[in-house]
Amino acid sequence: MTGAVVPAIYQVSTYKQDGVGGLRGGYEYSRSANPTRTALEQCLAALEGGSRAFAFASGLAGQDTTIRALLKPGDHVVVPTDAYGGTYRLLNKVALPWGVEHTAVKISDVAAVRAAIRPGQTKIVWVETPTNPMLGIADIAALATVAHEGGAILAVDNTFATPYLQQPLALGADVVMHSTTKYCGGHSDVVGGAVVTAKTIAVPGFEDAEDRIAFHQNSMGAIAGPFDAWLVLRGLKTLGVRMDRSCDNAEKVVEFLLGHSAVTAVHYPGLPGHPGYHVAAKQMKRFGGMISFEVRGGEQQAVDVCGATELWTLGESLGGVESLIEHPARMTHASVRGTELEVTGDLVRLSTGIEDAKDLIDDLDRALTKSAL
Ligand SMILES: *Cc1c(COP(=O)(O)O)cnc(C)c1O
Repeated sequence: MTGAVVPAIYQVSTYKQDGVGGLRGGYEYSRSANPTRTALEQCLAALEGGSRAFAFASGLAGQDTTIRALLKPGDHVVVPTDAYGGTYRLLNKVALPWGVEHTAVKISDVAAVRAAIRPGQTKIVWVETPTNPMLGIADIAALATVAHEGGAILAVDNTFATPYLQQPLALGADVVMHSTTKYCGGHSDVVGGAVVTAKTIAVPGFEDAEDRIAFHQNSMGAIAGPFDAWLVLRGLKTLGVRMDRSCDNAEKVVEFLLGHSAVTAVHYPGLPGHPGYHVAAKQMKRFGGMISFEVRGGEQQAVDVCGATELWTLGESLGGVESLIEHPARMTHASVRGTELEVTGDLVRLSTGIEDAKDLIDDLDRALTKSAL
């Protein structure tokens, strides 16, 4: 209308009708639809090569809506053993009491996923790749085949890779989910989520998955607000350049860590020795900005390293322009202690931002040296 090169923030709840029921462009009430949210949803659908996208108030709100829209009590989900902690909590503490069961499997093991599928009962094979914090890799194309043969859809949480590095729908997935809080937003200033549906879903019983998600998004109402939608849209404009810079930095940091005497293991899918390297090389454009590593001095040293960096900010979350460091066992993964998702105490997780690589390496070097004293 105005030629504005940036979509407006429609900070509005309701819309003038041209006579009763005379909606302009389909807008009637902002829970059902809002033009800023529509702009974000169209952008996300295009980036993922999907039919339609739905923007939510958080990644977990999108996942909850997906579970409730597509499943019913008695159904079963196969989920990665190292799924995002909040996803596992949603399945274990919310979906399970509702009657939806799950089995956690090592998602990189295609045969184990096939064995975990209960014919007639398993409705979703839930995939995260790369996983958090061990950067495990799942073969999306192989798992799509296994899920479809078992009568289930394949739902991929693409938060870590982003549509820039990985296109799950093109590899056979039926639904893609995002915490847009992370790389899509990219500036640590918004919490949001998204669900994108494939152009065709051929799994019997799921042909109308898109309509069911649309209905539930409106019925449950956990939508992204206009300003949050605008922030994610703004972030997405630079997704490609941010991801390339994060990947460049991550590769240099990995090289540094591999040569450091205090580091006993580095987990990064771009390392030829990583168990998921070949699959990652096949399905990802690059290997991403997430790294985890283990230190010789055990849990105390890992905690000390996290507390000693200056440029790397100690904090949860990931995917922002500023680099973050954290201790999974005591922070992001504290809630899964004592379960099969538990991680070891000597592990440190890095989310590599877009700062100068040398500054990032110097800071880590100082922190590792200081923590070893
Ligand atoms: C953060 C995250 C989520 C949850 O998203 P929120 O926006 O925090 O609700 C889900 N999956 C992955 C992989 C995440 O990193």
